[in-house]
Amino acid sequence: MIPGVDRLLSRPWCHELIAAYGRPWITDRLRAVLEDIRAGRAPVPSGDEGLAALVNAEVTRALSPSLRRVVNATGVVLHTNLGRAPLATEARRAMTAAAGYGNVEFDLDSGARGSRYEHCVHLIRELTGAEDALAVNNNAGAVALALTAFASGRGVAVSHGELVEIGGGFRIPEVVEAAGARLVTVGTTNRTRRGDYERAIAAGDVGAILKVHRSNFSISGFTEETELEELVALGSASGTPVIHDLGSGLLVDAGALGLPREPTPGASVAAGVDLVAFSGDKLLGGPQAGLLAGTSAAVARARAHPLCRALRCDKVTLAGLEATLALYRDPDRVRERIPALRMISAPREELMRRAEAVLAAVAGRGAGLRRALRAEVVAGESLVGGGTFPDARIPSAMISLGAGEEAERWLARLRAHSPPVIARRRKGRIVLDLRTVAPEEDGVVAAALAALGEAIRAGAGGGGGRD
Ligand SMILES: *Cc1c(COP(=O)(O)O)cnc(C)c1O
Repeated sequence: MIPGVDRLLSRPWCHELIAAYGRPWITDRLRAVLEDIRAGRAPVPSGDEGLAALVNAEVTRALSPSLRRVVNATGVVLHTNLGRAPLATEARRAMTAAAGYGNVEFDLDSGARGSRYEHCVHLIRELTGAEDALAVNNNAGAVALALTAFASGRGVAVSHGELVEIGGGFRIPEVVEAAGARLVTVGTTNRTRRGDYERAIAAGDVGAILKVHRSNFSISGFTEETELEELVALGSASGTPVIHDLGSGLLVDAGALGLPREPTPGASVAAGVDLVAFSGDKLLGGPQAGLLAGTSAAVARARAHPLCRALRCDKVTLAGLEATLALYRDPDRVRERIPALRMISAPREELMRRAEAVLAAVAGRGAGLRRALRAEVVAGESLVGGGTFPDARIPSAMISLGAGEEAERWLARLRAHSPPVIARRRKGRIVLDLRTVAPEEDGVVAAALAALGEAIRAGAGGGGGRD
């Protein structure tokens, strides 16, 4: 017979919990545990000690925050579900410092009110060559702001081949509509020429030409698209602003990272667009943000629009973005200092050495653990992710586990580790790609694998319990 809540509340072990967390909250935890036992979701405890252990486990579970640090062993560098870019040490430090008071909207020279929109501007100008710049909440916001400021109540000319969906509810036709503008599709899916844009503009009331980078898919074969320079020429001849949604903000040469050619914000600015929009957390490797760079007049117009206020960055983001951008001033070292860039360019041999070392550490934690996992180091491929470089496969080396039918359960075990380790399935096996694991986290991966190996050996590889 399991005692009721009232009887449990008078137990000495319960007094300690009540002293730490308060009576009402602990009462709720007791109810949850009793309910789980009754419903068969938790084992019937043997004695008071077993019950206390269940309650303590429930307290720990309920206390753990919703947003937690995880180890990304998927090999997808800009994994949107796992927070895209891991930030540089310099950015983390700046963000911690900014968590207190700061001169967010305060001019330290004059002591007068300053503008939040001044931070980061000089760096974005330096790095893109633009006259002016503006940082907002994310790139989707930057594009929505640009379209609203320039084309609300008017038409937006977009190539048929660029009516893309980026994911997470960002579809170009819907963004145009949300900006209060009318979509004017131009050309065909595979070919759009300058004349197509000309006809659309001549037909009347086009407030902006929008060019969208096909960042997350590619088309090939009988294709033709209008170059940015041609659109700019057409824009200035007809008095129509050109907005370029670039998506990812790659500020270094893709070739140096071993990746295929990818347009940069600086190239858009040099081509003469009015505004280019790009993300702070895709290839730029900083915190979530959307950057607009372009002419003084265009940026001023976006900054003056009321929507800008609704999309503004907070102080912690601004600090992280500024520190990240500052690292780009030293092009020789930036690839080492921005974690996303470092991960993308990590050589396969280095990852193979680390994978072997992790498996050696697992074996060192107990005889037979490595065998229980049927673990080996195999060749594989990592992805850039974040909806960028859809065709790029980065040659990698990874740890592969022979999970077979148990794959889902083994993955769940790794997720239940503290901190959770996120791996992925590949052809009846589980793979852990250390490309996206910081070297100082290799020990966590080894510990999680050893714990999984022990569970498998104990015949409990399956039972994940309540976790
Ligand atoms: C990623 C992307 C967006 C959205 O950017 P977020 O930073 O995710 O808001 C918009 N347009 C393109 C072309 C993109 O690649």
